[in-house]
Amino acid sequence: MRDVLIIGSGPAGWTAAIYTARANLKPVLFEGEEPGGQLTTTTEVENFPGFAEGVQGPELMETMKRQAQRFQTEVISKHVLNLKKIEGGFEVKTDVETYQAKAVIISTGASARRLGLESEKKLYGKGVSACATCDGFFFKDKEVIVVGGGDSAMEEANFLTKFATKVYIVHRREELRASKIMRERATNNPKIELILSTEVVEILGVEEDKVTGVVLKDTKTGETRKKSIDGVFAAIGHVPNTDLVEGLLDLDEKKYIKTIPGSSRTNVPGLFACGDVQDAIYRQAVTAAGSGCMAALDAERYLSSMEA
Ligand code: NAP
Repeated sequence: MRDVLIIGSGPAGWTAAIYTARANLKPVLFEGEEPGGQLTTTTEVENFPGFAEGVQGPELMETMKRQAQRFQTEVISKHVLNLKKIEGGFEVKTDVETYQAKAVIISTGASARRLGLESEKKLYGKGVSACATCDGFFFKDKEVIVVGGGDSAMEEANFLTKFATKVYIVHRREELRASKIMRERATNNPKIELILSTEVVEILGVEEDKVTGVVLKDTKTGETRKKSIDGVFAAIGHVPNTDLVEGLLDLDEKKYIKTIPGSSRTNVPGLFACGDVQDAIYRQAVTAAGSGCMAALDAERYLSSMEA
């Protein structure tokens, strides 16, 4: 039985690994399906302290990984399929192996929310995307829609203007949710046009097997209209990745893991949570990293108390 397993490889997971490894707990970290997490789908990170000139998301994650490995974190490039309580600890299963540990740190993050349309599902990867950094390149000289009114929507829209000739931001309310700086950057960009108080209620092109347009609905009048478009990017927030722990520990009404305030402890002794999987409010790389540190220190204390 090992001391600690860490599930997830975003800033929270790698920070927990750095701290537990330096405490000589020989952590094993499972990278999951999307190594590096959400930051690998962004470009420039301008607000992570220590990088005065900014840093690319994937590079930041690669650096954190190297730092964790420098202190002998064992990295498993696998997705965890099952986590359960056993006598004296927990058991984690991947498709090939089973691991046991006295403590587990959950840092499985969050994933992009979908619009929830049948046509969105059918056209996913065929003009519908949730990641401008991943798919923006395919929209050179095309027109696209970004759905959402938050910072992510502004960021994605700005990024897409590098390729697309025109980017429409479609937002369901009259006011954008995004911060002033991000909002201004988007509204000052001549290639970006806002379509407010409007929802995308259908994506067209299922027959053609590629996005050809959308049906837009005015949220004030209820009127609908068709609009030709080549791509639709949803930037409408995230949902926590808690399928693995549902039924094992307490989740809140939005399915985020509940932690005891001021700590990373869950309602199950020995299970700790950090990063976006337990944070519906801040959701920043730096707060995720900070909570990863808390989880490592909490796990370390828990293990010492087990020995005492
Ligand atoms: P967010 O702030 O939760 O915004 C989500 C947006 O999507 C909102 O405008 C929301 O509309 C809209 N929305 C939600 N569900 C929808 C649906 N079913 N249909 C249509 N629209 C829907 O999420 P986010 O933009 O991903 O940002 C998350 C966090 O990351 C924030 O704290 C943000 O500041 C941060 N972030 C920071 C940066 C940066 O500083 N560089 C970049 C990206 C993200 P309503 O406004 O009507 O609720």
